[in-house]
Order: sequence, then C-alpha cells, then structure tokens
Amino acid sequence: MTNKIVDLHLHSTASDGTLTPKELADFAKENGIAAAAITDHDTVDGVEEFLEECGKIGIEGVAGVEISAESDHQMHILGLFIDYRNKQLVSMLERLRKARYERNVKMLELLNKNGFDISENEVISQKEGGTLYNTGRVHIAQVMAQKGYVPRASFAFKDYIGNGKPFYVSRFKLSPQMCAGMIQYAGGLAILAHPFAITHKKKVLDELLEQIKEWGFDGTEAYHSSHSITFFERSMELAPKHHLLVTGGSDFHGDNKPKVKIGVVNKGAMTVPYSVYERLIEYRQRGY
Ligand code: AMP
Ligand code: FE
Ligand code: FE
Ligand code: ZN
Repeated sequence: MTNKIVDLHLHSTASDGTLTPKELADFAKENGIAAAAITDHDTVDGVEEFLEECGKIGIEGVAGVEISAESDHQMHILGLFIDYRNKQLVSMLERLRKARYERNVKMLELLNKNGFDISENEVISQKEGGTLYNTGRVHIAQVMAQKGYVPRASFAFKDYIGNGKPFYVSRFKLSPQMCAGMIQYAGGLAILAHPFAITHKKKVLDELLEQIKEWGFDGTEAYHSSHSITFFERSMELAPKHHLLVTGGSDFHGDNKPKVKIGVVNKGAMTVPYSVYERLIEYRQRGY
C-alpha cells in the first residue's frame, strides 16, 4: 500500500491553463503528486517541456491531450500515454486548431458587430505566445472582464459566450470514434473526460458507457473536480460493468479556474490514488 497520489488531467499555457508546462510539472511536484498527465485542449505543444521537467524533478510524467469531439452531445476525450510525435495525430490536431482559429475570428466579428470592442491583439496578449490558434473563449472572457463588460470572466460565459449563449460560435469537431481511434493509433488510451458534463443520471451514464465501449474507448474519468461523490461512486460501479478503466484528475487550469486545486477531485473531497495509475500501466501491458 502506498498513499501516493496522481493527477491525470492538467492544463498548461499550451491551451487555457496559466502555468507553463515546466511550471506545471514543478507545481505538481510541490503538491505531492507522484504521476501527472499534461492534457491540453487539442494540442501536444506542451508535452515535451513537461516530460523533460518531470524527468528532472523526479515525478512520473504522462504525455496526454484532451480533444473536443461531437456526436449527439459535445464530449471531451483524453488521450493518455500518447506518442506525441505521431504524425497523423499531430496533423489531426493541427486541423482542429485551424478550426479554432476560424471560430475565434467569427466570434470576435460577432462581438464587435454587437457593441463590444474586443481586438484580436487584446485576446492573444492574454498569454505568452498567444495566437488565434491557441487561445479561445477563456481569453476572450478575460478581455471582457478587463474592459469592464462583465465583473468577472465567469460572467462572460454565463451571459455571452457560454454554450448556447448569444455570442457562442461552434467550431468544427471530429466524431468521438475518430478521436479515440487516432489516440489509440498514436499508442494512447482513449478516455471519456468528465462524463458529468454530459449527464448526471445513472441510467444515461450507463448507456453512455455502453456506447463508448462500442466505440472502442479504453476508459472513463471517475475522479474529477466537478464530480460529486455520488457520481463518482456510480462511475466506479458502472465502468467495470462495461469493461472500462477508470482514471481521473483535477482538470487544473491555474488561475483560469481558481476553484480547481491541483490533485483534488470529487468536489474537494478526494485525491486520486496511485493505484489508478498502476492499473493503467498494467492495462497497457496486458489489456483489460
Ligand atoms: P473554447 O475551447 O475556446 O471553446 O473554450 C472552452 C474552454 O472554456 C473550456 O475548456 C473551459 O476551460 C472554459 N469554459 C467553458 N465553459 C465555461 C464556463 N461556463 N465557465 C468558465 N469557463 C468555461
Ligand atoms: Fe479548458
Ligand atoms: Fe474538458
Ligand atoms: Zn480539461
């Protein structure tokens, strides 16, 4: 037995986190995390720097990504233990970032036509190395807060740019099957991220897990900062029923999501035990 903990869902400045990949590794170490996965939205740009730092400071680093997909609902799919140099994966992610660029342009046009004054430059200067390919709604929300359109960035989502709100613009996404297939082609495990974002209901979760198993996914997140204990327990019960692994992490974004603490999941109540990570390693060697 060990009481080591892991965090297999972390964002850096390569997408919408506020710590650089190197800082993220250091912060994970400071917080007692033994194995950490970098899982930026639609990019592996931070992976190399993250793994290098993990190696230096002596924690286990996992190469990952979080891809946005769409079928009946929007879903986020984590790829863990990917070969982040895989050419097909890299070019698929490039395609998705081009869609992000096009969406960002459209969203700024729409906002500026409707009484807001938000420039491309203001958005991309929200982070170092920012471009319209690697920024998004989080950064637009920050500008809206800075310019006094909303009291805090979270209000921008609530009133203007959250899903289904008047200034929300969707972007091209791939199917979950395609994303999972590509992750596995690149040697990774395909994991449904935070299923709580799709449903809170046990019966629907059961059907969803059956569906992703059919699509060839390897597992689902059971541990997540947004999951209640009840939802966590349901996931722990239903995942094995469908021969799916369970994983998890905080979904830490640094100051962009100040309530989410690194290493902490299930509404602040739990951490992710090292055994979760060991099970993934075992699965990669021997299958379910
Ligand atoms: P984008 O990928 O540019 O469409 O932006 C999506 C990101 O915005 C997510 O990954 C979250 O980090 C953040 N986000 C989405 N909805 C909300 C919300 N309601 N409040 C705060 N942040 C949000
Ligand atoms: Fe995010
Ligand atoms: Fe997500
Ligand atoms: Zn995430």
